[in-house]
Amino acid sequence: MPCKSCGSANQQKFIGEMGIRSPGLKNIDKPIVWVFPQLIVCLNCGTAEFVVPEAELRVLAKGDAAAAG
Ligand SMILES: [Zn+2]
Repeated sequence: MPCKSCGSANQQKFIGEMGIRSPGLKNIDKPIVWVFPQLIVCLNCGTAEFVVPEAELRVLAKGDAAAAG
């Protein structure tokens, strides 16, 4: 499948390690939600795509990363 941004087929799979948190000073005390998704990176324009796993997605949707345990 070509890149959605530039249409290039020059894409590669990677494994990411990513800490996600809400922006803004009021959220600075909330723990980071760590996800290790498979990334599809366009090596032409740099666009990256990944899917947040369901468990972490629920934590993010709830808006309270502390519930992650
Ligand atoms: Zn691209």
